Amino acid sequence: MRLKNVPGARDAIEKSDICIKDPERFKGKWKSEIFKNDNPLHIEIGMGKGRFIMELAAKNPDINYIGMEMYSSVIYRGIQKYEAEENPPRNLVFLCFDATDITEVFDTEEIDRIYLNFSDPWPKDRHAKRRLTSDRFLKKYDVILNKSGHVEFKTDNVSLFDFSIDSVKENGWNIDGLTRDLHHDDVMNKGNIMTEYEQKFSEAGNPICKLVFSR
Ligand code: SAH
Repeated sequence: MRLKNVPGARDAIEKSDICIKDPERFKGKWKSEIFKNDNPLHIEIGMGKGRFIMELAAKNPDINYIGMEMYSSVIYRGIQKYEAEENPPRNLVFLCFDATDITEVFDTEEIDRIYLNFSDPWPKDRHAKRRLTSDRFLKKYDVILNKSGHVEFKTDNVSLFDFSIDSVKENGWNIDGLTRDLHHDDVMNKGNIMTEYEQKFSEAGNPICKLVFSR
């Protein structure tokens, strides 16, 4: 998702309290300095316009949430949505940041859960390392994720899903849950929160795949 040249996006990010600037400052200190509690910390990488993480945060006030998105034009939409809420969740912040450098922002085992929703498929082989379930990213998640934590990944892209299953297994992670038709899987769909892309793609008739994995 990339929205070109949204006027005012960078300025709005600068002014917004919900969007944390220079996040490297808080490495190892997210709970104590940003959330000021000791609740679990869950992040979404590639939050897009943020519908999923906003709804999740509102439902789970005892969990801290961080939504990460690399494009200012996209995160700007999330900020607008957050600021338009009458009672926006206080257990949520946003980072305009590229997850390639995620270990600069989070310390060893600082995170309790990672959500990846409808990550860019990068279909060309030569771009495979940019996929958020590639070897390169799994090694970084292995550092920042608590040993008892897990990753939840949803996509409608079957090639990316198959690639991800192989990648996860090759990197020694365990598969805790797998479905190729989430919305017809009563167990895995329980409490499911739809993302913007999930709504769009399922309305177009694409089944949604979901993978849960841990070490
Ligand atoms: N999760 C949303 C958006 C999916 S589109 C939804 O399901 O509706 C994927 C999003 O991930 C895009 O907005 C893209 O900019 C973001 N993204 C891709 N690679 C990223 C990276 N390395 N770091 C942070 N965000 C990334």
